[in-house]
Amino acid sequence: MSGFAAKGWCPDAWHPMMAGDGLLVRVKPRLGRLTREQVLGLCDAAVTHGNGLIDMTRRANLQIRGVRENGWQAMLDRLLALNLVNADPVVETRRNILVAPDWRYGDDSHRIASELQQRLDELPDLPGKVGFVIDAGQASTLRGEAGDFRIERGEGGSLILRADGRPAGVAVAAGQEADALIALANWFAMSGGADVGRMVRHGIALPDWAHGDHLLAPSTARIAPGRHDLGMVYGLPFGRIEASMLAGMMESLSTWAVRITPWRLLLLEGAPAERIEGLLSDIEDPLLRAEACPGAPCCPQATVETRELARRLAAHVGGWLHVSGCAKGCAHPRAADVTLTGRNGRFDLSLNAPAGGPSIRSALGPAEILAHFGAA
Ligand code: SF4
Repeated sequence: MSGFAAKGWCPDAWHPMMAGDGLLVRVKPRLGRLTREQVLGLCDAAVTHGNGLIDMTRRANLQIRGVRENGWQAMLDRLLALNLVNADPVVETRRNILVAPDWRYGDDSHRIASELQQRLDELPDLPGKVGFVIDAGQASTLRGEAGDFRIERGEGGSLILRADGRPAGVAVAAGQEADALIALANWFAMSGGADVGRMVRHGIALPDWAHGDHLLAPSTARIAPGRHDLGMVYGLPFGRIEASMLAGMMESLSTWAVRITPWRLLLLEGAPAERIEGLLSDIEDPLLRAEACPGAPCCPQATVETRELARRLAAHVGGWLHVSGCAKGCAHPRAADVTLTGRNGRFDLSLNAPAGGPSIRSALGPAEILAHFGAA
């Protein structure tokens, strides 16, 4: 490992990032799923080598926080033994595949994602944030989630290849989907896509074979907290859970696997319908409409605490609340109904704007904000 740089690339288990609370190690579960053994091993590693906290990301990955520099190698060895990390660091860097989290064994999402992850060595060098989306269920569930090269269901029922940022895609023959994704990734690299970083910003015309007019199938309701055909879904406040709590849930609920979603929701396969203190199982819970990045002191860019303020405000804000440690807006890259952006130890208040957007009040302290929303 070549040092613990702070910014500008995407961390993974081989390349952890130094954060304010120690190293951050990102784990990318294959197909967004961890077996019971993998979950228990990951939780044990988070407690042994990190600060015992696990975060979910918007790419359906997990992050172990607070890893000590002298504990990173042991952490990596453990993750490799659990088959949660690829043995080749280059392949691990390329393994950015977001899959519709309600996939079933043998369905199109499972089949295509499984093939693609076997063929990662056919990919070119790509910018760190570039990734794939496999959303091949009968309706779209990942339409709003970022991903550069996409297989999705078209409105006629066939699968389509779509470059991010384009409203339509081209039909792909069954069995050719991974070929099409790899070809599009190679075209992106050869046509200078790395210079702009993401497909959505790569404005040049697509090649004929990747250009089509097939629109997307209608979206379906996302996975929501509560009962699900596969088990039970729980929301994690701000996407964070204590490793000891997650391990305890695996034991007490006799669940055999966990699926990670991009929406801060965990799906516990085979779990019974039970309320769990500290997790969100009511779809009306206001914390499900609240986003907050780790803030200070976890992130070196932050000058404000974020999550306790969001927790106190959530029930007093109509619509989506976003409390961001700085203008980067990691937790919610889009506009929220109410956005508080940290700056020099205070907050700027914006409405219908992303982090750092035009503010209606500036330099507010937490007490002023709570009073403004009647939460004091
Ligand atoms: S939004 Fe800013 S403070 Fe929050 S995690 Fe991102 S970089 Fe850190």
